[in-house]
Amino acid sequence: MIYDIAIVGAGVCGGMIARELSRYDLRVCLLERANDVAMGASKANSGIIHGGFDPEPGTLKQKFNTEGRELLFDAARELSVPHIRNGSLVCAFTPEEEEQVRELYARGATNGIDNLHLISGEQARALESSLSQGVTLALHVPDAGIVCPYKLTIAAVGNAMDNGVELHRNFEVTGIEHSGGIFTLKSAAGESVSTKYLINCAGGHAGKVAAMAGDDSIEIIPRAGEYMLLDRSEGKTVGHTIFRAPSKEGKGILVSPTADGNLLLGPTAVRVDTPDSTQTTREGLAAVARSVKESVPNVDLSRVITSFTGVRASHAAGDFIVGQSKTVDNMINVAAIDSPGLTACVAIARYVTDILGGMGVQLDRKPDWCGKREDTEAFSKLTDEEKDAVIKQNPAYGRIICRCEEITEGEIRAALHINPPALDMDGVKRRTRSGMGRCQGGFCAPFVMKLIAEERQIELEEVTKNGGSSKMLTGRI
Ligand SMILES: Cc1cc2nc3c(=O)[nH]c(=O)nc-3n(C[C@H](O)[C@H](O)[C@H](O)COP(=O)(O)OP(=O)(O)OC[C@H]3O[C@@H](n4cnc5c(N)ncnc54)[C@H](O)[C@@H]3O)c2cc1C
Repeated sequence: MIYDIAIVGAGVCGGMIARELSRYDLRVCLLERANDVAMGASKANSGIIHGGFDPEPGTLKQKFNTEGRELLFDAARELSVPHIRNGSLVCAFTPEEEEQVRELYARGATNGIDNLHLISGEQARALESSLSQGVTLALHVPDAGIVCPYKLTIAAVGNAMDNGVELHRNFEVTGIEHSGGIFTLKSAAGESVSTKYLINCAGGHAGKVAAMAGDDSIEIIPRAGEYMLLDRSEGKTVGHTIFRAPSKEGKGILVSPTADGNLLLGPTAVRVDTPDSTQTTREGLAAVARSVKESVPNVDLSRVITSFTGVRASHAAGDFIVGQSKTVDNMINVAAIDSPGLTACVAIARYVTDILGGMGVQLDRKPDWCGKREDTEAFSKLTDEEKDAVIKQNPAYGRIICRCEEITEGEIRAALHINPPALDMDGVKRRTRSGMGRCQGGFCAPFVMKLIAEERQIELEEVTKNGGSSKMLTGRI
């Protein structure tokens, strides 16, 4: 079978493009090297829906941030993904930083962003009582927001699959042949997929994938950002996303609630050797701690439940690369999508679809396309009476598996079936939050393993943390 379009990389860009293309009568596949979707930058970022004041005017970053912000709010609503329009504050502590914040305000106006306000330190503290006394000026952006980035990716891919897109996991593209107008993509495991059009959304590896097809114009510069995540008890320390004035390394270290109710601190911005350098470091986490204590002194660092690193796929030119390859026919690169790529993903997906239309791809709308996805967290939002009724029908919803996050057996079993089904422990965790609380899976992991084995009809010893050789158990004793 020859696909019309193959997308390499199931991050938020690949996922949103797949969803957008699923509107049309096309054979589309999504190829992902990992055992799950959202395994690159899309699982480890700040989750901020950026206001749009920051990117340089005239860049693709600016275009897609300006167009994409509201499109993303709409998509999150349609896909039932946790999101909040919580607003952000960019804070200045010195006269130099005040100047930078004023520049951002002016740039926002140039970028066509309204509803921006320069406010004094007192006004900022009236909005956020925990803010440092050292803040002298702030840019208030009421329309900025937060979204759960990996749930957004999972939901976009799931919705694309519901509408006919095929997801191939554990398909690491390692070779690409192009002849007679057909691309043949070879996987590390020896499988192959043929397609007429190719969309390269391979994140930190987009340069490598482009080069396999014959386009060696993309050099990705990986830049790591380290984070600390605090328990949900701290989620209300601030309501807004609190930024520092940006530096040349990026938007700086922020303090923000997450869409799931935790408190997020970070990221750093450090050049690393590879896009897979996701370790945390003592220095990085110390830098995060120092910076957040300056902006929000009462952040309680004893409440850290985990730390992680996301790696930005940056490029020397500083802008996104979204467009037809200059050297390979029928290939589109969606590369160097660092921040604000999450905010921009729906706008990028629409732009790519327009490019495909311009390349001659027939875009006939499917009459039965449905852009909505069921709310996989619906059970937790029910009243006690409503939960009681569900439990009477299905007692699995009456058995709590994850005590910290109060996730039931019913929710975990469902996550092993809804598109794209979870296949491993981390997949269940990202879909249901089981194991995401303060014990980080200490209590629930054995029970989750059992449910995975039952639902997937595999041996307990075959259950993995995140695919490959990451087995949870080595054998029976
Ligand atoms: C620290 C940090 C903070 C950020 N904060 C924000 C923010 O607050 N707001 C915002 O708007 N943006 C933010 N971003 C940017 C945002 O996370 C990215 O723009 C976005 O996630 C990029 O998505 P992607 O799909 O292009 O790449 P990825 O999510 O990296 O996906 C690429 C996928 O390709 C797969 N892949 C790679 N090679 C192959 C291969 N050979 N074969 C098959 N599959 C392959 C990978 O496994 C991966 O799943 C941040 C990024 C980082 C790292």
